[in-house]
Parts: sequence; C-alpha cells; structure tokens
Amino acid sequence: MSVRDSVKKHVPERFFPLLMEAGGRVMALIYRGKKYYCPCCQGTFRKMLPGGVSQRENAVCPGCNAYERHRLLWLYLNEKLAVYKREMVLLHIAPEYVFRKMFRSLPNIQYVGAGIEAPFADIEMDITAIEQEDNSYDAIICNHVLEHVPKDVQAMRELHRVLKPGGWAILQVPLDLSLENTYEDFTIQSPEERLKHFGQEDHVRLYGRDYKDRLQDAGFTVSVDRYREEFSPSVAERFRLPENEVIYLCTKTDTTDRQENSTQHRN
Ligand SMILES: [Zn+2]
Repeated sequence: MSVRDSVKKHVPERFFPLLMEAGGRVMALIYRGKKYYCPCCQGTFRKMLPGGVSQRENAVCPGCNAYERHRLLWLYLNEKLAVYKREMVLLHIAPEYVFRKMFRSLPNIQYVGAGIEAPFADIEMDITAIEQEDNSYDAIICNHVLEHVPKDVQAMRELHRVLKPGGWAILQVPLDLSLENTYEDFTIQSPEERLKHFGQEDHVRLYGRDYKDRLQDAGFTVSVDRYREEFSPSVAERFRLPENEVIYLCTKTDTTDRQENSTQHRN
C-alpha cells in the first residue's frame, strides 16, 4: 500500500486539506530551487516529483501536487477563459485539491465540488444521473474522469444538460491519438487486464481520435485547442507541461437565440 493509500485509509476525510497543505509546505521546502516553476502554486523547485503509472521524471509539483496536465489547464483557464474575473457558477467533478483551493479563493466563482465518494467534494453526484435542473452551471470541469465511467456518453449528455446555454465545459481524458476509434471492451474487468489494455488499472477504455465525435454526439459544440503549442520549448520545460495534451473546449449553443433568430427569419 502506498503512503497516499495508507493516509486515505487511516485519516478522517476532514483532515485531508490540512494534510495537503502541511505536506505541500514541507515538500516545497525540501525541493526548493529555481529550475522549475509551477503556475498553479507559483512555487519554484530544483526538481519535481515522479508521477503517473510509468513514474515520469519531474511530473508532480512538490508544493501543490499538480501534474503536467493540471499546469497546462490552469494556464488555459486563466488566459483563455478568464476564470479569475468572470462571474460564474462552476461545477467541478471529482475535485483535484489544487484546483478546488484556487477556485474557492476566487470571489467571482460560486464553486460546487461534486463526485461519488470524492475526497474533496462538497456534494455527492453521479454524473450519469445528475439530480439537478437543466442549465444550472456556467462552467464545468471534469478532468480525467470519463475514462473511469462505463456509461461515459450518458455522463456527457448529463453534463451538457446541466450546463447553461453559452457556458463552457472542460472534459479532458487521456487520449491515444494513434487510435482512430476509441478502444472499449467491457469483458476486460480485472485491474491487471485494464492496465494492459487501457493504460491504467481503473480505466475502462482508451479514447482515440473519435473523442471529439462522442462529445458532439452528446450535444456539445467542440473546439480543439492546441494551446500547448503556444509555449516555447524552454518555457514548456520550465513549467513541465504535458507533451501531447490538446484542450477540448466544449460549449453549449444557446438554442433560444437560434430559435428566435429562425423565427425572425421566417417572419
Ligand atoms: Zn504547484
């Protein structure tokens, strides 16, 4: 059992934020330096921690536990989606501590963290059957969650339903861009087999280049943003950004406007 699993098992959940804070401060001190910079916590470090299934070098921020994908997404949320200033009701599925802390500190955001037995969630929520009204949220973040969900298309439809027209959703998943079609086989059930076929013990599929189609089929308008390419190699290395992550910006078209426009057009 890893230290993290052991802590989860033996320490009451209400102490998790305290532990994250204390652990982050100690680790930031141990790893302090100038070589790497984490945009999420604005810390600088001589090296970062290994992370992921293959224990990639310099993957995880010692100060805030952000992975490469979190750092890229945080930059994107700030630079492209102005999360620090726009008024919004934000739904954050299976909250990552680093994002939760930052969102909750922003006065313009009404924050709701949600999930099934998720350590930092405010409310219980099954994303395949969300017990909330249509058009409830201005923004949704569901980061690297759908690859764990057997009924992912149902989850996408539900997230689209509760998103307000004109709102946006970030629904990132791990992708294998060499695959034309998503690889899914529900007879593969054991952790060992899932690791072998899907890349992680608790993943239920491996998404391919058709991921965008799945999102569109669920109702979203999707724009694929190769935001990572906007960074020079030296900055990407200093920030330790992911190699191949593209951002899928999912939006919900305002059908009221469209209907009104078409009515006016007919008149
Ligand atoms: Zn950090």
